[in-house]
Amino acid sequence: MIKLTGVAASPGIAIGEVLLLEEELSYDKVKVEDIAEEKDRLKEALLASKEQLIAIKKKVEEEMGSDKAEIFQAHLMVLDDPELTSAIENKLEAEAINVEAALEEAIEGFASMFANMDDDYMKERASDIRDVGDRILRNLLGVEAQSLAQLEREVILIADDLTPSDTAQVDKEQVLGFATKIGGRTSHTAIMARSLGIPAVVGAKEILEAVETGTTVIVDGIAGVVIVDPTEEQLTEYQQKLADYQKRQEKLAELKDLPAETEDGHRVELAANIGTPADVTSALENGAEGIGLYRSEFLYMDRDSLPTEEEQFEAYKEVAERIDGPTVIRTLDIGGDKELPYLDLPDEMNPFLGYRAIRISLERVDIFKTQLRAILRASKYGQVKIMYPMISSLEELQAANQILAEVKEDLTKEGVEFNSELEVGMMIEVPAAAMIADLLAKEVDFFSIGTNDLIQYTTATDRMNEQVADLYQPFHPAVLRLIKRVVEAAHKHDSWVGMCGEMAGDRRLAPFLVGIGLDEFSMSAVSIAEVKEVIRSLTLQQAEEVVDQVLALSTAKQIEDLLAKY
Ligand code: PEP
Ligand code: MG
Repeated sequence: MIKLTGVAASPGIAIGEVLLLEEELSYDKVKVEDIAEEKDRLKEALLASKEQLIAIKKKVEEEMGSDKAEIFQAHLMVLDDPELTSAIENKLEAEAINVEAALEEAIEGFASMFANMDDDYMKERASDIRDVGDRILRNLLGVEAQSLAQLEREVILIADDLTPSDTAQVDKEQVLGFATKIGGRTSHTAIMARSLGIPAVVGAKEILEAVETGTTVIVDGIAGVVIVDPTEEQLTEYQQKLADYQKRQEKLAELKDLPAETEDGHRVELAANIGTPADVTSALENGAEGIGLYRSEFLYMDRDSLPTEEEQFEAYKEVAERIDGPTVIRTLDIGGDKELPYLDLPDEMNPFLGYRAIRISLERVDIFKTQLRAILRASKYGQVKIMYPMISSLEELQAANQILAEVKEDLTKEGVEFNSELEVGMMIEVPAAAMIADLLAKEVDFFSIGTNDLIQYTTATDRMNEQVADLYQPFHPAVLRLIKRVVEAAHKHDSWVGMCGEMAGDRRLAPFLVGIGLDEFSMSAVSIAEVKEVIRSLTLQQAEEVVDQVLALSTAKQIEDLLAKY
């Protein structure tokens, strides 16, 4: 028995036999005489790759929806990138090597550039580039990819990394789970596994050495553990866990279309946080009533120039059209841990306290206006709302609103339609904003409390720093008091108030948040049913009593212990 730990990428438990996806692509790097012939081979391989990608894209579009097919659009863009072709051709000419070697070196050059970026999201894009490189190489070598579409038996896929092309073809009936050597929570393997509902662990470093095809393994996608050659006791234990998990999922699934209301009829809204239009599918499947946070910055990432107004409009419109309820689009929240290499942001000592989010938008009014135009235009297609990130003073809010007013005026002059009644809100993620929520509430229609940042700024604890992770306390009385204050200030001024930080999806906090009167909870789609279950199991009065008990306590530990009981 060997127990390996990795990253819990997609919840669930799988027990079964391994299908090891091995890389059998090999060739020798050799000198060549006829460079023109290598160039021709490259052209043919590129063409074949393109045809395959178009076919896969079409298949995925038909079977899984257009959002899942976006990855293949990105692959086609990599394939069509003239920089890639010329990098390969330059190598051919300069080194007179075979095209396989030139291709691999060029791909590695591009991929490692992405892999070395600080940002997790950008890092993951390296695997897209390698995936495309692999496809071209297979075509050069005439090696067919292992088909995952028609497997004869149930298996657990184990691989170095599962490429999007692999996962897109996966036969859901036969693939019980995944485990890979590389990847993080935002890797495509993880994203695809979550949307397919297949348990997965990524980043299990020693996995390839530990298994071969046919080995029995347990993939625990909740704990992020892979057990190779489990003992009899472990098998029994995990079979029970699997049965319990399935029962629980069935129970939660029954809540999907039920309202999020307390036993005595106090109703709140449960919404989902999304990063791209592709996440809408999972939001809908999990019963989200709206999108409480659309992190628009993902549209700006993984590319080398700003997205145009038209591109943004299309993305916002797609989400607005697919969601019956509200779609809260947050304006660009870049800086901090999210970089945009093409904007050339300064290196800073304290990026989270520096030039980020609304601070950039207010200075780069050109970028801000383009985004506001796109959002306003999309407002015709659904219940679109605008939300500013990181506001820390009244002046900032007023300046943002002033720019919004100018954009509206421009659109009106141009005769472009938009919803002139569209609601405007701001995130409360800075303690200064929480303290003057009463003043800010007069200028907006709603607040959404961004607890991920609010906790870090309130407790002076870097949200990314493992070493001080213990001090990053959602249950800290200061954090809870600030949140309550914000809700009260908003209600006093007839604004509604939501929460889109991770705290909103923590079932333990649901009674407290209902009790203080939070109107909307926005979270990762997979948490919605659990939070709904808690809300539906209590009365408003019970929730209010929890608030009194919480506020009487003095430490995060005491509060956490109390809330764990509900
Ligand atoms: C937050 O800070 O709580 C939030 C939702 O924003 P982000 O996690 O994108 O910083
Ligand atoms: Mg934030």
